[in-house]
Amino acid sequence: MKITLLGCGTSVGIPALGVIGWGKCNPKNPKNLRQRSSILIENKGKTILVDAGPDVRNQLLNANIMNIDAVLITHGHADHISGLPELRPFYFANKTKIPIYSNDLTLKQLKIQFEYLFKKGKTSPSYYKPPMSLNKIYYGNNTICGFDIKVLKQYHGNSNTLGFIFNNNFAYCTDVVDMPKSNFNYLKNMDLFIIGALREEPHEAHAHFKLAFDWSKKINSKKTILTHLGVQSDYDYVSSICPKNVFPGYDGMSFEL
Ligand SMILES: [Zn+2]
Ligand SMILES: [Zn+2]
Repeated sequence: MKITLLGCGTSVGIPALGVIGWGKCNPKNPKNLRQRSSILIENKGKTILVDAGPDVRNQLLNANIMNIDAVLITHGHADHISGLPELRPFYFANKTKIPIYSNDLTLKQLKIQFEYLFKKGKTSPSYYKPPMSLNKIYYGNNTICGFDIKVLKQYHGNSNTLGFIFNNNFAYCTDVVDMPKSNFNYLKNMDLFIIGALREEPHEAHAHFKLAFDWSKKINSKKTILTHLGVQSDYDYVSSICPKNVFPGYDGMSFEL
């Protein structure tokens, strides 16, 4: 299984627009240039994308990806879904609808926001076929494109998000500030744990570093990577405070499991 961290930035990206810009991040370090959070998982000829934010087109061009077999969506915030229409050319070329997987609430949001991606409208021209399909994913075990995917419930301020465990050895948990206790049993002894950790100070919707470090220790992951990093989180500084086996992510970082 190959995993690529397509983007590891928070919702505004780094640099952010306007005076916030690079925040505390050193603009001279290319590892601080962060697109919106997303990962790609490739295994046995199948490719799964998790989240499709506003940077997804550039991310997939950079990774030279020719096909996406399925898309998993963690939740309906814009930094995780707003690039979904960018995936249409895969359908134009392959003529196979791209299945999008998430929970009921997020599917409902997607249907409203991107109706033309999923539904042939009454006024659509006869040649128009919707390029994507909406598919429900369930808490617990799912099989998608040959991957065993366990779906976890996560708390994200005033909303919930989905965490994913792939083939029982890699977990991707972003946009999470708390989770049900039972998750920690499922997350035990991962080879790789990618966890959203915004910054050093606590935040109401995202884990901060200390919390992510505690979780990493609790589940005994072999390697933990921090993602969804904020403008306060300079790469070298974060590296300097990380415990053993924990590292800040950077765009394009990849892993073979
Ligand atoms: Zn986010
Ligand atoms: Zn979010």
